[in-house]
This record gives sequence, structure tokens and C-alpha cells, in this order.
Amino acid sequence: MEHFHRRKGALYAQSYACSQLAEEFGTPLFVYSREALETAWQKFEDALENHPHLICYAVKANSNLAVLDVLARLGSGFDIVSGGELKRVLAAGGLPEKIVFSGVGKTATEITEALEVGIRCFNVESEAELDRIANIASALGVVAPISLRINPDVDAQTHPYISTGLKENKFGINMTDAIEVYKRAAQMPSIEVQGMDCHIGSQLTKIEPYKDAVERLIGLIERLKTEGIEITHLDVGGGQGICYEDETPLDIAQWAECVTDAIGERKLEILVEPGRFIAGPAGIMLTRVEYLKSNEDKHFAVVDAAMNDLIRPALYSAWQAIEPVEPSTVAEKVYDVVGPVCESADFLGKERKLAIEQGDLLAVMSTGAYGFVMSSNYNTRPRAAEVMVSGDEAYVVRERENVEDLFADESLLP
Ligand SMILES: *Cc1c(COP(=O)(O)O)cnc(C)c1O
Repeated sequence: MEHFHRRKGALYAQSYACSQLAEEFGTPLFVYSREALETAWQKFEDALENHPHLICYAVKANSNLAVLDVLARLGSGFDIVSGGELKRVLAAGGLPEKIVFSGVGKTATEITEALEVGIRCFNVESEAELDRIANIASALGVVAPISLRINPDVDAQTHPYISTGLKENKFGINMTDAIEVYKRAAQMPSIEVQGMDCHIGSQLTKIEPYKDAVERLIGLIERLKTEGIEITHLDVGGGQGICYEDETPLDIAQWAECVTDAIGERKLEILVEPGRFIAGPAGIMLTRVEYLKSNEDKHFAVVDAAMNDLIRPALYSAWQAIEPVEPSTVAEKVYDVVGPVCESADFLGKERKLAIEQGDLLAVMSTGAYGFVMSSNYNTRPRAAEVMVSGDEAYVVRERENVEDLFADESLLP
């Protein structure tokens, strides 16, 4: 059974009617399915079971403690990009030895904290960062395990904002510089060269970019071997694509086969950093229609969720499916679904055929990743509540904010 499915036309989250969730917890509301998170994570586990591996869930996709808890209980590792995410993972019961730390701008404080708890590996994105990690590790009297993030210069064939593997991107170290940086790293007493990593983009639905990237990295690993530098893990990043509109999600079994084929008999542990693939389809956002309005050539559905709750449509022109929660007999019209925020970019969907009335509930599908985590308080809008459905129960995993809290840290002049 799908985790979000219909019974007699009405939308359910597992065995919970979405209309009931909206009634109990209000709107806008993010609803996550625990079973959907587990099923998606398990796909990676099954696909890689015959090869040494570690799944490092990309925390930035959805960092709610309950989401991290569900994955930590499965034995997941985590890919973090900040000291804040490190603290979240530890608070949710994640193990430091299964944490990899990515990101181009790690501060001295963040590096110190990560070394103190003993993370699995730093994914280093520049020579300057390598020097900083080496100095801090040396001062602390520890050895820092590192991997270099290589920019393999492959085109991930995705939206330019979420493509990260081309030379012109800010991420990683170029293929041509990599050998020299590895050689330097290998000489540093406070550095242990462990791995090589890449992350070429997000929402990839084709295998070829992964194949290209992995083959290039393996070529580099072979060259390092001739220099006496042994790489023991290959981190292939995240980016596995899901279905928003009509895309075919990346087939994880095929993807894993492509990676393991390229590795062959080499003794390389595989690390993978999926975010969207695990969290995206596991969440929906419920919103209520406040008003319907029309002008000469357009109909608008003004809903109570806005770009501050879900920014993907405004930021990347991302298309998210929008469905009525309950079936209706009113006539279908073509609507722009917009929020109350004072920006023309404030829309959730454009030109959607919907049979709706004022007061109806809509569900924005596949909003479990890069949904709530990218939300803001713009227009002094409290952020939505988050609920996790697990079995027959629904748990509030983040309370709705209230307005007073939003300005509680502000002050008037004396
Ligand atoms: C964002 C990110 C991921 C996760 O990307 P998804 O598209 O959500 O799978 C993995 N690794 C790194 C380094 C990232 O920046």
C-alpha cells in the first residue's frame, strides 16, 4: 500500500484521514510517514547489502529530530553540513562514528566540535579547509579522518541551481588539482587520508551522470595508488531523484549495480548521501483554501500556506503536485494556487485544474524534503507544525510556532 493513498476518494496518510489531521493539528501542516521513510532507506540497504557500505542520510533535506530518530534506529549514518546539524543528529541518537561532514565553509568551531565527538570523516572541499582541519586536529592532539570532495566535471542534467558537479560550481576540488592536494594531505601528521567523495547534483533521474562520476573518481583512486596513497572509501554523494510530476524515480537497485560494477574487486567501502530520495516522498503539506478569486483571465486559489512554508516553487520554479484532500462535485477550473505573502513569486502551483471551494483542504505532495527546513518567518508568519504518522498514531514532532515567540528575542530601544 502507498503510504499516502486514497480511500473512497479521500486522502489518507497511512491509516489517518488527512482531513482529520488538519482538524486536529491545523493548517498549514507538514505530515510525514514513518513507514515511507523506512521503506526508502531500506531500498539503499537492500541494494548495497553485498558490498561494504554506509548510508549517510543528508540531514539538510529534513532535519526534524523525529525523522533523524527513525533513521538512526535503522542504523543509518548521517551527512551533515553544519555544527547545528551535528547537534541535531547527536540529540536524535545518531552515532558520531557514522557522521560525515560536508560543506564548503566549515568554521573552526564546527571543525573542533566534530573532532571532539569523533565523526567518521570530513568531506574536505578546499586546500585552505584541509590546512585548517590539520591545524585544529594537531592542537587537539587528534588525527582527523578526511576525504576530498572531487568535482568530477560531469553534467548532472538537472536544474542549474541544484547541479553541483561542473567546474564552474563552488563545490569541491578539481580533478587536475586533486593528486597534489592528496599528496600534501598524506604528509600531514594530524590527517588520515581515508576517502574520496563527490556530489554532482540533486534530483537526478538518470544513471549515466553517476556512472561518469564514479568512473572518473576510480581513475583518480588508481593514480593515487601509484603514488602510494590508499583510498578506503568512495562516497558517491546523494542526488537520487524522485517523482514530482511525471519523472521516473531513480531505480536504486540499478544505481547500486552501476556503482558496484565500476568498483569491481577493489576494496572500497561505498558511502552514499541520499536526502530527497528518503525524505521527499515521505511528506505532504496540507493547506486550506482561504479564498477563491477571479479576474478577467485568471482564477486564483488563495491558500493559508505560502512561499515561507514551501519555497521550492518560488526558488527553483519547482513543480509540486497539488491535490484536493476530499473529492468534490463542484466544477473544475484552472487555478494559480497562491499564498498570502506579498510577493509575486508567492505561489505553490500555477495553472492547476482543481474542483475546489473556499474552505477546502489541499495537499501539496512530495514535500518531505527541502520543505519545512527551508521555511522562514517572512511576513511574520509562524512556521507550520510537523506531524509524523507511525502505524495508527499521529505524533506532533514540531509544534506550530506562535507569533509572540517570533519576536521574543527582539527589543525596543531604551
Ligand atoms: C544536499 C546534499 C546531499 C543530498 O542531496 P539530495 O539531492 O537531497 O539527495 C548529499 N550530499 C551533499 C554533499 C549535499 O550537499
